[in-house]
Amino acid sequence: MFDFYEGPVIRVNQEGYAEGLPVYAAILTKGLVELKDETGKILPFEAEPLKLDEASDDRVTVANLGRLKAGTYILESPEGNRTLTVSARPWNAVTGALIKGLYYQRCGCELKPEHAGAYTHPACHTAPATDWEDRSIQRRITGGWHDAGDYGKYVGPGAVTVAHLLYTWKLFPEGCPDNLNIPESGNGVPDILNEARYELEWLLQMQRTDGAFHHKLTKMRFAPFIMPQDDKEPEYLMPVNPAPTAAACACLALASRVYRAFDREFAERTLQSAQEAWKWLRNNTEYKPFLNPEGVYTGWYCEKTDKDDRFWAACEMLAATGEEEYQKAAEELYGEGQQLTHFGWADVGGLGALCCLFELGEEAGEVLYTKLKEDFLGQSEEALKLSQASGYGTALAWDNYVWGSILPIMSNAMAMIMNALLTGRQEMRDAALKQWNYALGMNALDICFVTGFGENRVMHPHHRPSEADGIEDPVPGLISGGPNNKMCFPQTKEKLGENTPPAKYFVEETFSADTNEIAIYWNSPAIFVGAYFNRTFTE
Ligand SMILES: [Zn+2]
Repeated sequence: MFDFYEGPVIRVNQEGYAEGLPVYAAILTKGLVELKDETGKILPFEAEPLKLDEASDDRVTVANLGRLKAGTYILESPEGNRTLTVSARPWNAVTGALIKGLYYQRCGCELKPEHAGAYTHPACHTAPATDWEDRSIQRRITGGWHDAGDYGKYVGPGAVTVAHLLYTWKLFPEGCPDNLNIPESGNGVPDILNEARYELEWLLQMQRTDGAFHHKLTKMRFAPFIMPQDDKEPEYLMPVNPAPTAAACACLALASRVYRAFDREFAERTLQSAQEAWKWLRNNTEYKPFLNPEGVYTGWYCEKTDKDDRFWAACEMLAATGEEEYQKAAEELYGEGQQLTHFGWADVGGLGALCCLFELGEEAGEVLYTKLKEDFLGQSEEALKLSQASGYGTALAWDNYVWGSILPIMSNAMAMIMNALLTGRQEMRDAALKQWNYALGMNALDICFVTGFGENRVMHPHHRPSEADGIEDPVPGLISGGPNNKMCFPQTKEKLGENTPPAKYFVEETFSADTNEIAIYWNSPAIFVGAYFNRTFTE
């Protein structure tokens, strides 16, 4: 049985802290904690008394050490010390690595030593794929990212991941690390857009001739833990579905605006594809959830509704074309109710909100701007309340540690960042910062969830290449899904027992897909949050 109750009494962002932003540390001791600078001088700071954190059963408080000048500091307590560093741009490397983590997920091309270092491998999954419903159709579909710990490629999750990257670049271009040593580096296009395009080129191929998008391109079962080039089972184009079609439509319409300045022809291609998808959606209004065909056991990614995907698509089509039809559709779908602070593979209302609030703006009118903004500001208060209720400042309810809990935590950080951008409220920005600190070590596990980073790091993610490549260190720049006590494997339960609290329900072992898998759409909201904070703050 693991015992997570031990561990240091001070938890910090293991990748350091930024000048100009508050420095937060979690303290788990009643003893006197002193903050000292490099000269040994004691610096004052504020800390509330310890309180019980329901999610972890820890008695903890998050101390605000204030804004500190660049340098090395030490937090001293009778039960142990912790060193922390403050610098101007501490998170450039980890944010860049999270983008490059997607490069390592590239399918269908060789990862060359000059870009991938030790993680090189030959091209994988290059054989033609068969249409599941019409076996006479074979198509050679290249590129895209492996979705997660497995080698499947899924349209909805891929579209959402790309959208996170494109909005990151639109909103915080100066926070996006460049020159990531990917094959396209130095071509005059920012690397975050180069990497996103690799997935977009694949996405375009996943469209059927009538405009609909296939749900996924996978085999019938997940591969064993082998390298991708050794995975030779046949791949199938699985049936089409409205939810991924709408998500792809939205993503491609967004891409048409982003890439227009760099490559007009590509922008036209993405817009045309989005228009064809929209036409199909208009003629296919009935929603049927995707079901895995009999005998197929790869990722399900089934959504309860496609209303949010259609809403997001209408918003992006409006932004791309300015046409009345999309305004009307977006307003109608908005009227049916949208959750505006969710940014995951299933719930994309937040991406519609990003489009309305930061792209369309006031010109979107009463419903899509004025009312939507009011609704968004109201809904994003919930994220702040969750953070305030948590001992670690984590914006997640104690009973909501789901598979991939990093996603709702990063989603809530995105919502609070958007709120801060709209209102200038520092408490929103600072609560978002606590989520970034959570990802990098200020948490009940004292772990940095990004592979390759932090002093206590993830070494055994559920990720096939990281296990199969024979290299001790996992592929870098991938974020672990983190604690989950909702849908667990028996093996995980056996390890942790019944009394392990939700925020500690985590096994740092390869088998534990339920707590320690990685996914492209967990990296991407972390990239959004990282790029926001990877800038200069002066107050
Ligand atoms: Zn592959």
